[in-house]
Amino acid sequence: MGGISARNLKMEFGSFVAVRNVSFEVASGEFVTLLGPSGCGKTTLLKMISGFLTPTHGEIHLAGQDVTRTPPEKRDTALCFQSYALFPHLSVLENLEFGLRQKRVAGPERKTRLDAVISALDLSLHLEKLPNQLSGGQQQRVALGRALVMRPSVILFDEPLSNLDAKLRDQVRIEIRRIQRDFGLTAIYVTHDQAEALAMSDRVFVMNGGVIEQADTPETLYGAPKTSFVADFIGSANVLEACVTGTDGNGGVELATSLGPLFAKKTDLQEGRMVKICWRPEHADLEAGGTNRLTARVTHRAFQGHFTDLHLDMDGTDIRIQTNRPGILEGDTVSFSLQPEQIVLLEAVA
Ligand code: ATP
Repeated sequence: MGGISARNLKMEFGSFVAVRNVSFEVASGEFVTLLGPSGCGKTTLLKMISGFLTPTHGEIHLAGQDVTRTPPEKRDTALCFQSYALFPHLSVLENLEFGLRQKRVAGPERKTRLDAVISALDLSLHLEKLPNQLSGGQQQRVALGRALVMRPSVILFDEPLSNLDAKLRDQVRIEIRRIQRDFGLTAIYVTHDQAEALAMSDRVFVMNGGVIEQADTPETLYGAPKTSFVADFIGSANVLEACVTGTDGNGGVELATSLGPLFAKKTDLQEGRMVKICWRPEHADLEAGGTNRLTARVTHRAFQGHFTDLHLDMDGTDIRIQTNRPGILEGDTVSFSLQPEQIVLLEAVA
């Protein structure tokens, strides 16, 4: 089936470089999300994979074939947009059939494919309706069905859920993932919603300024971000600058930071190096003693149900922690510890 391989892809619009030297592999049947802020190049990359844009430089291979200059209709891909991309004057059935008729797929084969998709997406009661007679979730299922009847080996999603309310988004998300698995499709999914990316994907490519900053599983992106951009973009993180001042004699390093000295687990850094570090708010432990014990004043408190978010002022640095301990008020002083292995070392600072 359809793995994707991209080598040194670059897309220039005049003097502006929207995607710069991007290379990646996506395995057959894998679900990969392109995640990043507005303008980082997600849609441009998706359009190069689908054939709607020809890269200025580089190559794209689908299922081992070089398709860099192959037009979209000759690629084994299908695009699924937001639900409003349905033809408003055609019934659900006509919308589903449209691509098959265009490709002159023969009647019996057309029927087999339509029946499979109508049943998988539970659309049989809606076939005669026009799109505006459907709910948002039903419209989204038709848009998905229209892509699936083409039996692509690669399916590409461009922010398909952005029209739906939060609850419906959750349901359709689960449905997209189920169908993608059942049909054995390779999927590339574009979103700027990090929760959606973490919940759905086998791997997430975090994009920033036209490059992929990190391509990893959701768990690795969260637990071991490689750059301060990724640490900050995925979940919330306390990101600080630090200078390596020595070793702790235990395979770790001592760091000078604006919070005071901190110990982290990392051995291959030389003394005097400036690096960025991060740690997650939920790793602050108010009950433990020992290494990396810090004390600060609470400036803001927000109860979140299963935890409380605290903002702390540490000599002018704003730090965020989470705790389950009840009764902490703004103005209180709290102490907490950080395990050295929960301090993540990010990129070097020039
Ligand atoms: P969003 O989340 O807002 O959709 P994105 O990450 O998908 O953003 P792209 O649509 O890929 O971003 O655009 C990347 C950059 O390339 C943007 O700065 C955009 O203005 C620019 N760009 C995209 N298409 C063109 C074009 N046809 N001509 C000139 N510039 C373009």
